[in-house]
Amino acid sequence: MTANAHRTIDAALDDAPVFYPTAEEFSDPMVYLSSIEPKVRRYGICKIVPPPGCAPAFNEDAWGRDTERFDTKQQHIDALKEGRTFKFGKEYTKAEYTTAAIEFDKQFSSLAGAGSETMERRFWDVVETQSEKIAVDYGNDLDVNVFGSMFAATSDGLRHPWDLGHLFAHPLNLLRVIEHEIAGVTKPWLYLGMRFATFCWHVEDHFLCSLNYLHRGASKTWYGIPGVDAEAFENCARATVPHLFKDAPDILHQIITMVPPGVLVQHGIKVSRLVQNEGEFVVTFPRAYHAGFSHGFNVAEAVNFGHIGWLNFGQKAVDVYSKGAFKRNAVFAHQRLIVDASESFARAYDIARASLQSKSIGALTSALRKEMERMLSDEQYFRASLVRRGLQLKEVKPHADNDDVCCVRCKAIPFLSVVRCRCLPTAVRCLSHAMDACSCEPEHRCLEIRASVHQLSNIILRLSHASARGANHQGTRETATTPLSRTPAHGKDAESIKSEHAPLGTPWTDEELMQLVKGIKIHNINLKSQRESRAIMVISIAAMIPTRTQTQVQSKLKKFEGQVRRMTAERRAQLGIEFTPNHADTRLLELKRAWEKRAVNTGAG
Ligand SMILES: [Zn+2]
Ligand SMILES: [Zn+2]
Repeated sequence: MTANAHRTIDAALDDAPVFYPTAEEFSDPMVYLSSIEPKVRRYGICKIVPPPGCAPAFNEDAWGRDTERFDTKQQHIDALKEGRTFKFGKEYTKAEYTTAAIEFDKQFSSLAGAGSETMERRFWDVVETQSEKIAVDYGNDLDVNVFGSMFAATSDGLRHPWDLGHLFAHPLNLLRVIEHEIAGVTKPWLYLGMRFATFCWHVEDHFLCSLNYLHRGASKTWYGIPGVDAEAFENCARATVPHLFKDAPDILHQIITMVPPGVLVQHGIKVSRLVQNEGEFVVTFPRAYHAGFSHGFNVAEAVNFGHIGWLNFGQKAVDVYSKGAFKRNAVFAHQRLIVDASESFARAYDIARASLQSKSIGALTSALRKEMERMLSDEQYFRASLVRRGLQLKEVKPHADNDDVCCVRCKAIPFLSVVRCRCLPTAVRCLSHAMDACSCEPEHRCLEIRASVHQLSNIILRLSHASARGANHQGTRETATTPLSRTPAHGKDAESIKSEHAPLGTPWTDEELMQLVKGIKIHNINLKSQRESRAIMVISIAAMIPTRTQTQVQSKLKKFEGQVRRMTAERRAQLGIEFTPNHADTRLLELKRAWEKRAVNTGAG
């Protein structure tokens, strides 16, 4: 049986991708990480080998400051399949741990100088057959504020671009808008490992990405599962060790279970593997379950980050947290992060647009706009229905983000709207659980709103302007620097670059919005004359539509379409703006699609 399991491991595990960036590619971690993600998606994890001479140096001074003792977790390797909670191991200083780890290696004379395959066989032998009793102390999750970060400054006295303590501040890291420090998420943790010290299967909080650096010492073997297989993995783990899930439904969140990769592969889960050596980075992408173990004494550091590819997963995490069988506390308010990041990008785009990151910032700006539109649509739906049910409405000022409170029911952290009841005003409910947690009348409940629909629409509008400016800016810049002699085989000609920067999804210009909205009455609202208000109104209307039934949407759309057609015909000559019917059709089609998509997403009709 053991032999079978090994054979499965050997035969069916994929090699996770390994990247060797050039010094130029390596100069910006967030741009590089976003660029490789499409190639890693099928695996979930990958390894990045810094270019020669570019790996971050070890901070000997920080290592030498060794006054504090840290706690360890005692792991019984032969019992990892049982999912027992780890007890505390001994306490060590860094020097004491190093000595203990090196001493521990001497117990395994047959593993002296062994390769990673031999090491792996022995590890799984112990886990699967309990042939030996092995207990190790793992120094995980050590606070770098106390024990120091091991990233040294560069020779110029600057921070290395891949210094994980610095990643948080990167313009493309969405987590940078979180104002309070979250240990292990926005601030790195330090990990001291010894032979067979294990990180059991887990995903990162909020399905974030993680970046891990092995500062020095023995290698680590990693296993990864692509994000798309996360639920399949959870089901498989549940089926393989049902008794564990029965006793502790959140067992995977406790990070104490080691399901052998061979077993997962037999259940059709795609598992990939890599060996991380000293001076190499490992990345885990959104919702990619991962696990692994150390070959011997080592020092590592890790932190989370959120890039453009994480946006959808972040919302998914909130949904899974709130609706999943096992509840898990959110560690920050996702809505607040999206709103703050959107405001930041709407504001900062002009400053950053000329830099190397401009393309990435443009893409992130558009992605945030989509997220904001979705959030606005949800907010409007819930707010309207709760007010109809009799809840009191109250506008409140946002507070500092470290005072955010979890929903009493689902442990998500709501931000834009919060529901409280008179019977226990300190208890907070998210919009989905507005009526939960007590049986008081709706009139006793208060819907606290921290941002009005107008404020949110305004952010969306500014994001649209920001990405439009970015697209225009890039278009001109690229056109200007493209040599006329360049042939399509070697690069894009100016025309194709221009058309690429004006795809179907580009934001509406002021003129187009004015044309669309002028003279249209919906719900008998007389639109104000200011351009800005009109633009906001269009966005609001588009977001409002899904709260109606499908039939209503269609008839409203038809009416709207007719009005726009009549309006464009009448107004074209009057306003003297070129507005060809084809152009109008494209725009209408785009709007129609957006509405239909929203209607489907919100399950209207
Ligand atoms: Zn809730
Ligand atoms: Zn109540």
